[in-house]
Amino acid sequence: MFEIKPYPEFSWSNSRHKTFTECKKKYYFHYYLSHNGWLLQAEEENKQVYRLKNIKNLPIALGEAIHDIVHDQLKAHLAGEPLLTEQQLKQECKNKLNQAFIDSKKHYENWAQKPKKFNMLHEIYYNNELNPDDVDKIKEKIEICITNLLSCKSYNEILSNENLYVLEAEELKAFYFDDIKIYVVLDFVFRDRLSGKWVIVDWKTGKENQGDRDQLALYALYLMDKFDITLESIEIRNEYLQSGKTVTYTLNEEDIIEARNLIVNSSDKMQTYLQDRSLNKPLSADHFEETFSFRCKSCNFKELCDLSGKNDG
Ligand code: SF4
Repeated sequence: MFEIKPYPEFSWSNSRHKTFTECKKKYYFHYYLSHNGWLLQAEEENKQVYRLKNIKNLPIALGEAIHDIVHDQLKAHLAGEPLLTEQQLKQECKNKLNQAFIDSKKHYENWAQKPKKFNMLHEIYYNNELNPDDVDKIKEKIEICITNLLSCKSYNEILSNENLYVLEAEELKAFYFDDIKIYVVLDFVFRDRLSGKWVIVDWKTGKENQGDRDQLALYALYLMDKFDITLESIEIRNEYLQSGKTVTYTLNEEDIIEARNLIVNSSDKMQTYLQDRSLNKPLSADHFEETFSFRCKSCNFKELCDLSGKNDG
């Protein structure tokens, strides 16, 4: 039977680390106060924070739509089903974003009841409108990203190589290191049966950024843990769909040591904010300080913080 727990399970992920580094209050809202907010009988405060946690802005909604489309297209290919054309893929992407807009504008109550099932765009929730320039940019991005997807190295390799063993497609996976549960989201993983090489593909709809590299060692750690394979047999690719650039990485032992150190040190720091480590019970809310910065403007939880006089959030 489904058990209701007063506190969430402690786990570590790259995005949790990022949130913890950015703002402790945001971290508290996202990883603790939202807990159980999906339950009918939850306190209104938990429900509100859980709803806010599920808001997404336009670029994130676009990223999700493209990931879903790639996932469905490759799934259809693996099942031997017909593939959508470039125009159909673009239309599908537009439909998903239109739906996000309609949900946000017209189905507030549905979203408030089921924030994971319906969409709420950050721009609509906080400003009740989309900036026309942003909408134009998103439309342009859809065109570019889908065109680049169809010509990128990984997509074509997956479609043409019959010796691929496909492992994962867009799934949240967990593994343990030093008794810490680690979550990674793998976009697509395959193994070339002839060369024995494992390839992890990450579809990126944003611009290249240094932080992208931080995730890579985690992917390798996951594969090494699960399949007992060597680091040398793993290739990691970021497909930047906006620029059409493929960036391939091979990692060395130092990268792995750094990733392990990051996990341990970051988890240790997170756990100093716990009242009871065995329960993952957090300290009281006032221990989680706000970090006011330019990020507040786009933060999902900004209605919960007093931003008066702080930037233009
Ligand atoms: S609005 Fe700013 S201070 Fe408040 S949680 Fe978000 S990032 Fe932190």
